[in-house]
Amino acid sequence: MEQRYECLIVGAGMAGAIAARELAQRGGRRVLVLERRAHIAGNAYDCLDEHGVLIHRYGPHIFHTNSRRVYDFLCRFTAFSGYQHEVAANLPDGQGGRIQYPVPFNLNSLEAAFGPQEGARLGEKLLAAYGPEKKVTILELRQHPDPEISALADYVYDHVFVRYTMKQWGQTPEEIDPNTTARVPVFLSRDCRYFQDAYQGMPVEGYTPMFERMLDHPNITVELNTDARDRLDLSGSEILLDGAPFRGLVLYTGAVDELFGLVYGRLPYRTLDFVYETWQARNRPDEPWPDEAHPLRVGDFYQSHATVNYTVDEDFTRITEFKRLTGQDLPGVTTIMKEYSRAYTGAAEEIPYYAIINPENNALYSKYQALADRFPNLHLLGRLAEYKYYNMDAIALRSLELCDRLLEEGERHG
Ligand code: FAD
Ligand code: UDP
Repeated sequence: MEQRYECLIVGAGMAGAIAARELAQRGGRRVLVLERRAHIAGNAYDCLDEHGVLIHRYGPHIFHTNSRRVYDFLCRFTAFSGYQHEVAANLPDGQGGRIQYPVPFNLNSLEAAFGPQEGARLGEKLLAAYGPEKKVTILELRQHPDPEISALADYVYDHVFVRYTMKQWGQTPEEIDPNTTARVPVFLSRDCRYFQDAYQGMPVEGYTPMFERMLDHPNITVELNTDARDRLDLSGSEILLDGAPFRGLVLYTGAVDELFGLVYGRLPYRTLDFVYETWQARNRPDEPWPDEAHPLRVGDFYQSHATVNYTVDEDFTRITEFKRLTGQDLPGVTTIMKEYSRAYTGAAEEIPYYAIINPENNALYSKYQALADRFPNLHLLGRLAEYKYYNMDAIALRSLELCDRLLEEGERHG
């Protein structure tokens, strides 16, 4: 095996696929990629559903980055649409109806929630306190000494954060890692985009073709439906692959506790259940579409935005409508997806999606990392392997930078 391959990569998601391409093309290495799923692209995988709608199988994925390097790298394998993600919070208006306003909560949300006059007055007050275009985390805003500002922060906390966070994490915003709610700050702006990054969009043909092109290189072999743990043995002083020592580079992008047989117990995660619904244009005049409760159906769409967050009620956190995300032109049919979050138990059909970052879990992670550190040729890379809340672009950059380092070291050592 070692004669045939110089690098082994476990996982064909963003981390693994980018490293495979870099090591194969830039480094001239022969690379074997093992992927336990039946497909490449990791959690960014997309495909057509039975109605011909392009869907994201593992949650909505919107590409955004400030890294020119990441953007240029991915542009070698896809063009990006100019899609700019916007999200609405949908909640009861307190008078028997419902309202929607932009999330992150911004100056427009303020006017939608409090009316144009009062909203504008409160907006002026926030602008005077923090300055235009500033982003303030909800936890920080609640600490503001001005009682009117802290009362406003309580409104946002109650109507946008507390119940959504309870649904997503089973804990309050104070109990979870503060960096998590800081991802969606209060924004003193009228910019209603979810991200302000310099480069954003969707791969025009989808993520999976982008990954196909990335992995399409003569030095790369991909084996699907292959759990690397069935081929690797890390019980001794060196890594065995198929029973023989493997001294090449090993990049592992799966969950690190699994790699070491859960010897210290499971790392805690949240998992998601995705519930899909497809709405078809009515084919009989007496069939309403999608139903009477949804007035937004101009152009065969289910909802007003690609993602609508249910911040106060419902058991799901958000609904994503894929056509709005991908720009797919498919009249008369649309597929939506509701996300339900719960604790990951390790059952075979569950996928660990979100690391639960806190000091106790980080300490447990460190014990696994110490096991990995015993092998100088083993590198943990990726959202699972590093037990971090990384977006795709962060993983892409880490993968590129790890390859820089490994190739440099390789050159130095001949
Ligand atoms: P993954 O994509 O999880 O890939 C790891 C791969 O390793 C998987 O294919 C897995 O099957 C494989 N594997 C694991 N163990 C083994 C094994 N033992 N043997 C063989 N193969 C194995 N990021 C954004 O930038 N924008 C977004 O809008 C966005 N939305 C998201 C929505 C949701 C619901 C979630 C959960 C994440 C979202 N992300 C988003 C984050 C994004 O999914 C990650 O940053 C990215 O997928 C990380 O890539 P990765 O390669 O580290 O992990
Ligand atoms: N959040 C919230 N209400 C919202 C949006 C986000 O309370 O309407 C909080 C929640 O705790 C969530 C976190 O902010 O887990 C990060 O949100 P983001 O949309 O970045 O989560 P992701 O897309 O990664 O699931």
